[in-house]
Parts: sequence; C-alpha cells; structure tokens
Amino acid sequence: MCAWGTSKAIRVIRRNHPAIADGWHEVYVDECLAEYVQKMNDLGIVTLSCCCGHGRSNPNVLVAIRAKPLMKKHEYEYEKYCGICYSVDNYYALIHYPYGKTQEESEQS
Ligand SMILES: [Zn+2]
Repeated sequence: MCAWGTSKAIRVIRRNHPAIADGWHEVYVDECLAEYVQKMNDLGIVTLSCCCGHGRSNPNVLVAIRAKPLMKKHEYEYEKYCGICYSVDNYYALIHYPYGKTQEESEQS
C-alpha cells in the first residue's frame, strides 16, 4: 500500500477510447500496483483504471469488458462492474481484486 499520490509510470493499452488514439500509452498508477497492472497489459488485457485503496479499501483494477476471455485464460477473477464512467465498452466493465476482496480481514489475522 502506498500513500496517496505515490505513482509510477507504466505502459497500458488503449482501444476504442473516444478521446485517446488506439495503442500503448504511458499512464501513472499507484506505485504498489504498477508492476501488477503492467503485467495485465503485457498479456493484452485492457485496463481502464486501478487504485490500491491506500489502506482504506480493497485494491482493484477496472478492466474492459472485451478482455473477459483473456481474464479467464490467465485465471484472473473478476466481477461485473456497472459504472457509467467506464461505459466506453458499451455498457459495463469488469472489476478485478488483485488480492481478493477480504484483504482487510486477512491483514488482521
Ligand atoms: Zn498503494
């Protein structure tokens, strides 16, 4: 977990984004998730955003709906995520929890 504002540049895939040309783009993400999210993109998975939660919530990665087959192939767990901000892929995105949804509980034990 890193402090808010601690970010690191990675290269991510952008496709069919209304404001961004298709291809690889540099973005800044929470440092502690940087390698993790870079690996997903290197596998071809289009990620939309990520947040490590900064100790307040579960780390999560939003993933483009079209990446579902790759998520399955590489055994990433995911759930549907209904967020109008991420509706560039028609209607919904996927949300992936890098360390599961019960991180707070497991840290306490
Ligand atoms: Zn962090």
